Amino acid sequence: MTSLSIDDVPMEFTDYLVIGSGIAGLRAAIELAPYGRVLIVNKGNPPESASEYAQGGIAVVLEPPDSIEAHRSDTLLAGKGLGRPDAVEILVKEGPGRVEELIRWGARFDREHGHYILAKEAAHSHARILRARGDATGTEIMRALLDKARALRSVEWLVRHFTADLIVAENRCMGAVLLSDSNGLRAIGAKAVILATGGAGQVYLRTTNPPVATGDGIAMAYRAGGIVEDMEFVQFHPTALAVADAPAFLLTEALRGEGAILRNHRGEAFMKRYDPAAELATRDVVSRAIWQEMQSEKVPHVFLDVSHLNPDFVRERFPTITRTCLRYGLDITKALIPVSPSAHFIIGGARTSVDGATSIPGLFAAGEVACNGIHGANRLASNSLLEGLVFGARAGRAAAAASSSGIENSKFLTALARIQPPLSSGSSSIPDPPGSALAQLKEAMWNWAGIVRDQDSLTKALKLLKTWEPYTTAPVDSKSGGEFRNLVTVALLIVRAALCRENSIGVHYRSDDPRPGGPSENRHVAFRWPDRTEGYLS
Ligand SMILES: Cc1cc2nc3c(=O)[nH]c(=O)nc-3n(C[C@H](O)[C@H](O)[C@H](O)COP(=O)(O)OP(=O)(O)OC[C@H]3O[C@@H](n4cnc5c(N)ncnc54)[C@H](O)[C@@H]3O)c2cc1C
Repeated sequence: MTSLSIDDVPMEFTDYLVIGSGIAGLRAAIELAPYGRVLIVNKGNPPESASEYAQGGIAVVLEPPDSIEAHRSDTLLAGKGLGRPDAVEILVKEGPGRVEELIRWGARFDREHGHYILAKEAAHSHARILRARGDATGTEIMRALLDKARALRSVEWLVRHFTADLIVAENRCMGAVLLSDSNGLRAIGAKAVILATGGAGQVYLRTTNPPVATGDGIAMAYRAGGIVEDMEFVQFHPTALAVADAPAFLLTEALRGEGAILRNHRGEAFMKRYDPAAELATRDVVSRAIWQEMQSEKVPHVFLDVSHLNPDFVRERFPTITRTCLRYGLDITKALIPVSPSAHFIIGGARTSVDGATSIPGLFAAGEVACNGIHGANRLASNSLLEGLVFGARAGRAAAAASSSGIENSKFLTALARIQPPLSSGSSSIPDPPGSALAQLKEAMWNWAGIVRDQDSLTKALKLLKTWEPYTTAPVDSKSGGEFRNLVTVALLIVRAALCRENSIGVHYRSDDPRPGGPSENRHVAFRWPDRTEGYLS
């Protein structure tokens, strides 16, 4: 990692800086547009994001017999007592308005005989999942949001710019430092910053998440002194494609909703042995059951079987899945599909209020990077797209309201100087990590801090991760270096939080204490750097 100085860093100013252009970032930017200049930064090319790949749909209450109360109760029930009722109330009450607005902006959800098709997913008491183009809901939502955002004159874009760090001074976030291949470093000052960087699935060997999901926002908020919470809660999706040389492409649970059966290598439909709801049990139960089968048969996957369903129906209902599997030589209407669980969604993140305010004034967060408490210890399927819309809009509104004035140049310079360590290697003599480090990290997290963990496995993971801990504050001069730094930070947060919560709850399963309950049942694990306060907040 080489040397850079703040003297070399050009500075620019905008009114609002939005980091990330998935559903949460775009929705926040649209909300902010009437209040000033909005700069959206993306480390790749839009629409590359988890939002783009969302398949199953978006949960929303549209008509009786469904009700706001039922959606509220299902979400809190899934959260196992750790969900924040006020945040959940906002999600389900404001959700329908946000979705109707999206439809007015041009999003086209699937209809039949003039009515929206509403699907039912596991742990939802009613059919309330809107979808688009069968299994391409995220792509359609992103198309509509991108069209809307691109049409707004006050919204500007900076693509292929990696945000390396937040600029914080005098207890206020004033902007961020960006890194790009073409322009090197640049510092952007802003009245308010919105983190919308998505999840951190890349910390695990197997993940449904796109390559951009390296937990950058969580790590940046943590390095800047923000509170990070609930990191032990990582949701694993039970069924991702497990074919050599293919990515862990998601096979939506809507497949199981339509009758797909999970089979082990002996051909046995095993789910009934684990839960009366069989294939329709919640994600954590199905993931653990598959993991158990894989361990006992010593195999890297089980199978998903849709070969008994009408082939035309399968092709029409799941066009993206059918096409993608065919690309890897699998005709799902005939052959068994090899599947295994994969890291899917990080429930924890930068702690926020229901208005997206983090613990650092001037810094807001929305979407998967944020932890506002709606998911508790387990996320109800299809609630996170809704989360991005509802809380992206709220964060935008709150950021506009909280920032009446610009920032002074002198304060910005002081702030920039304070984050010198990430920019200058003057104080660092850390060599680049070995090329194998990233693969080792992912493997360790998968084996020791994954679907099933215990004290011993987590301690092993912690020991390994600590060898890379110096990188968490080391200077970076490349995107890959920055992502590695962030992945180590996030992995350490997950492992330390999982060690802290000694009993099992929701998606956090400790085989050394599988019983739910214990003294930590209703409390949250939170961390703040640099004193690394760890423990329970009530
Ligand atoms: C395969 C898949 C299927 C899913 N299906 C569903 C579903 O059917 N329903 C549902 O509700 N949820 C689903 N989810 C979850 C849901 O899609 C995500 O939780 C949600 O889209 C996250 O939105 P976001 O805006 O927070 O982040 P993202 O959509 O991931 O966007 C993050 C953005 O931040 C940018 N970024 C990240 N780091 C930096 C950085 N350092 N500098 C600059 N830019 C940065 C990225 O480039 C990207 O633009 C699915 C997830 C996956 C992976």
